Amino acid sequence: MRASYAGRSVSRGRAVGRSLLVVGRKRQYFRSEIEEGAVESEVSRFRAAVAYASRQLEALVAKPPTQNAADIFDAHLLILESSSFLDAVEDVIELDLVTAEWAIKTVTEKLVSSQRASADVHLRQKAVDIEDVSERVANALAGGKSPLPLLPPNTIVVATELFPSTLMEFADSPPAAIITERGGWTSHTFILARESGIPAVSGIKRVNRRFDDGDVVVVDGDHGTVTFASEEDLDLSLASEHDLGVAALGSLDADASPDPTFRVYVNVDSTAKVSRAIEKGAVGIGLLRSEYLFPGIKGWPDEERQFQAYKTAAEAAGGLEVRIRTFDFDLDQVSFGGREPEKNPALGMRAVRLGLARERNFRTQLRAILRANTDGNVSIILPMIAGVQDLKQVRSLIDDEFSRLEGIDSPRVGAMIELPSAVLVVDQILKYVDFLSVGTNDLVQYTLGVDRDDEMVSDWYQSLHPAILRSIERLIEAARSAGKPISLCGEMSGSPFYLPLLVGLGADEFSVKLSSLRSVRRILGSIDRAQVEEIVRVVKGLDTAQAVEEALAAAYRTYWPDLHLTRT
Ligand code: PEP
Ligand code: MG
Repeated sequence: MRASYAGRSVSRGRAVGRSLLVVGRKRQYFRSEIEEGAVESEVSRFRAAVAYASRQLEALVAKPPTQNAADIFDAHLLILESSSFLDAVEDVIELDLVTAEWAIKTVTEKLVSSQRASADVHLRQKAVDIEDVSERVANALAGGKSPLPLLPPNTIVVATELFPSTLMEFADSPPAAIITERGGWTSHTFILARESGIPAVSGIKRVNRRFDDGDVVVVDGDHGTVTFASEEDLDLSLASEHDLGVAALGSLDADASPDPTFRVYVNVDSTAKVSRAIEKGAVGIGLLRSEYLFPGIKGWPDEERQFQAYKTAAEAAGGLEVRIRTFDFDLDQVSFGGREPEKNPALGMRAVRLGLARERNFRTQLRAILRANTDGNVSIILPMIAGVQDLKQVRSLIDDEFSRLEGIDSPRVGAMIELPSAVLVVDQILKYVDFLSVGTNDLVQYTLGVDRDDEMVSDWYQSLHPAILRSIERLIEAARSAGKPISLCGEMSGSPFYLPLLVGLGADEFSVKLSSLRSVRRILGSIDRAQVEEIVRVVKGLDTAQAVEEALAAAYRTYWPDLHLTRT
């Protein structure tokens, strides 16, 4: 019998293909071959990275925090400059015809395993130092930002954790499917995978040991399983390709126009998707995740590049509103090498905090957004607002940049509500913004203290926890009393299962991924408000997420047996 592993479905659909292991902690990469003629430039890329890493280490040795640290960095310099490392990597590039990243990985693994096998405890401990040095050089290579090579057709990407930026870099050669150990339903990687119709299964333990480059595997994103297959299966499946990889939308085929009091926006992660969203009936772009401008370039995107992207999006929306979210990521995603990673990036220097700390970069983005607002349809959304202090500071930067520009309209400014503190002071926040957008993915993460990317605690990531339902209800009431719009964003609002509940809690504005637009419109056109309000009255009396889920499922079966109200 063929080995099969059960994980968790994080993006529907099914695909057969060949596995390819993606590795790397800071920047991800995979085994990729180069032409013989490219050896020289690959070796010089490697040498430049080594020189950069040496300079970093020399600086650390010159100003060490402690004497012990100086000794450690000295030892790292010795490893870095040793011929057993340098020559070996260059040999692998030249003989195996692979990228510098892959050569470093191969050599490091060899050196580390021989150190680990040693009887001498000091030599065994040195293995960690070798890994550290090689990570430093790999980061220096990443700083140079050469684009990732294209993926071969029918590639199934396997990774302990796949970064969203890596997936974005695959835009020109998307994988057929994804298998990971970590990452939950609301992690950015899988939001993007669902958006692009790439089936994915997460929660498969020790993926690096179970799969090798080139294994033929079947990924069943509907049932959350991965099975090894034969070469014949691959040939057969390629012959009937049209059967595969199609996201199952259940019985949601018919198009129904929703009640006009509902407004459905679309979330996008590229300018190209704006016009498609508008053609399909979105009332605007509820969230443009501007981080998509980063992968494939070195450092921060400059003002002109950003301006062009935002202006194109504003024009493609044909006068409808485009809400551009300022960069929402953490420090590790924008800096390379030379710095210890943050212990808790989700709680660290990220989103507007990072913007305020890097004011010059933040002003560049704000200016580019403002300049794109010549037709008055561009709004700004600020992520991870904790309270009024953040807002006041950001608004003063916006006002300052706005005052220096001519011929543009003043933008509407909204706050993402994703922190419990923002829920508690929402009445104060509402005085400083034109609208609210509830980031339910993060609201669940921060309210319940559950890392949305950590599969191990995914049972505690409960979108139906009574605290979440109370928070959403409170936010909707506060926005309504202030007479300002509030949109429900994040994966909950695009999910057929949660949508009726959100309507029952009073929501009338949603921002969903493009692939959910049709089903969301259909559900909004089919459900009866009085009925959902009655369902909500029942679930509000329940005290666990599980009880809420069961009550919802039972109510849906009774009221709308023909609607396919599942989570994904
Ligand atoms: C959210 O947190 O729900 C949200 C919409 O933003 P993101 O998923 O990009 O964090
Ligand atoms: Mg968020």
